Amino acid sequence: MKTDHYLDARGLMKRFGGHVVVDDASFTVPEGETLALLGPSGCGKTTLLRLLTGLTGADGGSVSVAGEILTGPGVHVPPEQRRVGMVFQDWALFPHLTVEKNVAYGLRSGDIARGRAREALDMVRLADLAERYPQDLSGGQAQRVAVARALAPRPRVLLLDEPFSNLDTEFRIKLRSEVAGLMREVGMTAVFVTHDQEEAFVVGDQVAVMRTGRIIQQGTPTDVYEHPATPWLASFVGEANLVEAVAEGQTASTMFGEIRLSEPAWGSCRVTLRPEHLLIGNGDDGLVTNVEFYGHDTAYAVELDASTVQVRGMAAPRFRPGDRVSLTYSGPDVVAFAAGGPNSNIPDSQDR
Ligand code: ATP
Repeated sequence: MKTDHYLDARGLMKRFGGHVVVDDASFTVPEGETLALLGPSGCGKTTLLRLLTGLTGADGGSVSVAGEILTGPGVHVPPEQRRVGMVFQDWALFPHLTVEKNVAYGLRSGDIARGRAREALDMVRLADLAERYPQDLSGGQAQRVAVARALAPRPRVLLLDEPFSNLDTEFRIKLRSEVAGLMREVGMTAVFVTHDQEEAFVVGDQVAVMRTGRIIQQGTPTDVYEHPATPWLASFVGEANLVEAVAEGQTASTMFGEIRLSEPAWGSCRVTLRPEHLLIGNGDDGLVTNVEFYGHDTAYAVELDASTVQVRGMAAPRFRPGDRVSLTYSGPDVVAFAAGGPNSNIPDSQDR
């Protein structure tokens, strides 16, 4: 039976000098799923991966895979015994070795190594290219060889640390779908580190969002986007308008009318509204100050009561700067954040 806690990291801590880099970080990855670990540069993602591999020792917390404790009080299983594989940012292959020898590199020599290399190449559908040299591969094939090299020792968990960060955008978009498909096909349990929200949503069955060493929220991409745990997170995973509201149980009154809340709340609060959930029409609520047409949609900036809100329309521009318009909310239930209160786990001043 598949377990929801195949990889289980709990309360992980890491300090360098006096500086806390990983701070009580907890997350789980169900068997056969990919978790995208998303966070801004320097928030501690690579350090967290290194704690999972055992290359860095933890100052607290635990890591287990399939119920076996790898890191915990008095336990530190060495990296080579963890069966946790890693694909690094720089996945360069050895130019003087064939594809198969690249994949077998690091395995003990002999027939078993050869068999495992062949098996891993089969998984990434490159068995036909085993005798080729890296310079004769396309970029996508080379990347798959790097994944095969990490799969060859039959890891229980695969960690990928920003594997596409050195690539141009077009190539990256193609590869991320390919690698996401590959992980699903081989049923690998994986953690994929990225600082790119779109990449995290494409690759991750679930996403864990990290900030200053802490995991702020774990959920499906839809959960995280529609029900963000903090205003900061709402803006980090997409555009968000932070709007004053007064909550009365299941609804909140805002300048766009009554909006349903996902959890009941009372009193002054703020809600985050996505630009694509605001409908723009003829009216006299606000003034259009900017219009940008992107082809697939149009972004409007609308000034209301001394604040500016962002709006996305799925059609060509219908209004121009200087037009008076009305805005109504048409989207999912939203989360209410008490200003600086328990729902925003970071100080209000850092939150915008
Ligand atoms: P990026 O996305 O830029 O790769 P990251 O989220 O992976 O960043 P880390 O590389 O884990 O972040 O670094 C987190 C913080 O820990 C940074 O401030 C970094 O300078 C610091 N740090 C990482 N490794 C060490 C170390 N061995 N000694 C001291 N400080 C370290």
